[in-house]
Formats: sequence, structure tokens, C-alpha cells
Amino acid sequence: THLIELHNITKSYQVGAVSVEAVRDISLTVKRGEIFGIIGHSGAGKSTLLRCVNLLERPTSGSVKVGEVELTKLSQRQLQAQRRKIGMIFQHFNLLSMSTVRDNIAFPLKLAGLTGTAARDRVDELLKLVQLEQHADKYPAQLSGGQKQRVGIARALAANPDVLLCDEATSALDPQTTNSILSLLLDINAKLGITILLITHEMQVIRSICDRVAVIDKGEIVELGDVLHVFLKP
Ligand code: ADP
Ligand code: ADP
Repeated sequence: THLIELHNITKSYQVGAVSVEAVRDISLTVKRGEIFGIIGHSGAGKSTLLRCVNLLERPTSGSVKVGEVELTKLSQRQLQAQRRKIGMIFQHFNLLSMSTVRDNIAFPLKLAGLTGTAARDRVDELLKLVQLEQHADKYPAQLSGGQKQRVGIARALAANPDVLLCDEATSALDPQTTNSILSLLLDINAKLGITILLITHEMQVIRSICDRVAVIDKGEIVELGDVLHVFLKP
């Protein structure tokens, strides 16, 4: 069954007198439980497309369905509730620099109204999942890049989302750290059953963890299929 359905998504940006089509009539479905990768050069439209999934960007036209809910039709308030089911991580982590690891992870729980012991227990569970128990009281500036991304992952998973969106999540990391983050993502997919939609410009990311891949160029999908089929054909 399909967890994410994008239908005829177009996103244009108005730059002065000129309209730039960052994404052009893209339709795409992501199955429940899979790891789906979108790869393409810089400027291809990957980030715009990903941000249309949780409506960080509003498509100029087209519809976005996540878990049977048509997001483009929701009120702002209804959308906020649905967004809790969609976690997101970023290339530059986007952590709160003035808050500890623990408070960064607790932040979405606070927004959802969870506080006290229940919140503390949930944060402990997440710290364990991303192996940061020893670093709970540190600030982001005291962490390595890989540790920062682990905080980002824990924060994204705090509210128990169905899907995790990854925006170039390993692009700021060295190859060894990249591998450890990729294996954590694989684990989260396998053990927690969380569907992953990621964008990357790195072929290795696609090869090592994705089930299916779409290649995007100039705002359009130019290839789509199983990773083995798309990248190992003659
Ligand atoms: P990618 O993530 O593949 O690097 P983006 O989605 O960031 O691609 O960008 C796709 C195109 O849209 C590029 O031409 C980019 O310059 C343009 N673009 C992205 N965001 C904006 C914006 N806020 N305003 C104007 N143009 C934008
Ligand atoms: P880039 O990939 O180009 O570095 P990001 O993907 O980090 O850019 O995007 C930063 C944008 O995401 C900002 O406009 C910010 O408002 C928004 N943002 C930052 N943190 C979050 C979050 N936890 N949830 C949703 N949106 C966020």
C-alpha cells in the first residue's frame, strides 16, 4: 500500500519578472515500509520536491497525500497535527544551539503537549536508540557532525512518525560517519517500520540503503525503479 502519493506536483518560484519551475508535473508514490531515494544534480529540484511532501513548500499545483490524508486541503491547524506523523532531518542538522541534546529531542514532545515523566522516559528511549545516552546534557557545539545528526534523527522520531524525510542528511559528513548514519537509518526502517524518503546527490547513499530510486533532472523524473535495475542495467 502507498504511504505517500504525489500527484502532478509543480512548484514555480517567482524571481523578479521571471517564473522558475523548480519541479515540473512530478507524480510519485512511496510504499509503506520502503526506503525511497531521489538523486540528482544540484538545482535539479530535489529539495523543493521533498519540502512539498510536508508542505514546507506549497506546490503551485498538484496534490500531496500522506497516509490517506490529502494535505493540501487541510487547515493550518489540521496540517500541524498531520506533520507530527512526518519527521524530517536536514543536512545542517538545524538543532537548537542554546539547548542540550535532551532538550532538543524533547522539543517536539513539548509542542505535542507531552511533559513530565512520560516525556523524560520517551527521550531516554530515543537517546538509547541513537546511542547518545552519554551525551544527553551536552550542547550541540560539543558534538561531532555524526552525533549532531543522531540528535536530529532522535528529534525527528520523537513523536513516532510514519515517515522520515531526509534532506541530504549525510552530505555534511565524512564517509565513515556517513556509513554509521546510513546503518542507523536502515535499522530504524527495519526495526520501527518507518518509511524513509531521502534526497541526495551521492550515489553511494542510494546504493547502500535504498529499495527504489528516482533520478530527477531539471525538475522532472527521468528514471524510476528498483535500485538494482536502474543502476546495474547494461
Ligand atoms: P536541489 O535540491 O536539487 O539542489 P532545489 O529544489 O534546491 O534543487 O532547487 C531547484 C531550482 O529551484 C533551482 O533552480 C533553484 O535555484 C530554484 N529555487 C529553489 N528555491 C528557490 C527559491 N526560494 N526562490 C527561487 N528559486 C528557488
Ligand atoms: P538546506 O538543506 O538547504 O541546508 P534546510 O533543509 O536545512 O536547508 O532548510 C532550512 C529550512 O527548514 C528553514 O527555512 C527552516 O525554517 C526550516 N526548518 C528548520 N528546522 C525545521 C524543523 N525541525 N521542522 C520543520 N522545518 C524546519
